[in-house]
Amino acid sequence: MGSIQSPHAFPKFTDPADERRHRKQRLAAAFRLFGYFGFDEGSAGHITARDPELLDHFWVNPLGRHFKRMRVKDLILVNQDGEVVEGDRPVNAAAFAIHSQIHAARSDVVAAAHSHSVYGKAWSALRRPLDPITQDACAFYGGHVVFDDFTGAVFELDEGKRIAHALGGGKAVILANHGLLTVGRTVDEAVWWFITMERSCHAQLLAEAAGDPVLIDADQAAKTSEQVGGYRAGWMQIQPLYDWILEEQPDLLEE
Ligand SMILES: [Zn+2]
Repeated sequence: MGSIQSPHAFPKFTDPADERRHRKQRLAAAFRLFGYFGFDEGSAGHITARDPELLDHFWVNPLGRHFKRMRVKDLILVNQDGEVVEGDRPVNAAAFAIHSQIHAARSDVVAAAHSHSVYGKAWSALRRPLDPITQDACAFYGGHVVFDDFTGAVFELDEGKRIAHALGGGKAVILANHGLLTVGRTVDEAVWWFITMERSCHAQLLAEAAGDPVLIDADQAAKTSEQVGGYRAGWMQIQPLYDWILEEQPDLLEE
């Protein structure tokens, strides 16, 4: 079977200024999608994008601005010490504690996404990894872990380090009694894993509430994971959503 052909081209950049602008645009659009899907919970939740030149700095949402109102010009740049070096609004302390350690531990990770979405946090209370009960859930087969060491809100770098250690080389962590966290080589990929992981939590909660779901066997789950769980597949899946949000809410691009 041939690979699925996408009408979208995987982006490549020669100028870091173009790459930065692209990442910031995707990041602002990602927040609009999080808002659309209802992933907000007050001021909680953050998505970060590593700067393409200052590799230990990342772009992130400012504390207290609603996902649904995020624009490129609202994003702030945070350095390795947690200081805001572009923008005039504060950073969420938990965003720095968690994301700085993930970006430091994983040079391949350009973006990380976390929020207190309802089905993710409900599933996280069970302290179990997702099972391969659907084709979509197979994207996470063998690629996610449960971080079951809940000690209150994450404000300490040390806890961020332990979360990054638990993540290992994977694409997602279920933070017990807290919510989901996903990573990717592009903003697009990290955000898609978050959206589809939230929906996979929802699907498993529904299936287990209704009965005793039958798992896809290990060989098929591993094969399906290779088909739907790669970084290009994750990037590709979200392109229609980005096209839609950019058309619906073009003000997100304001710089
Ligand atoms: Zn959180």
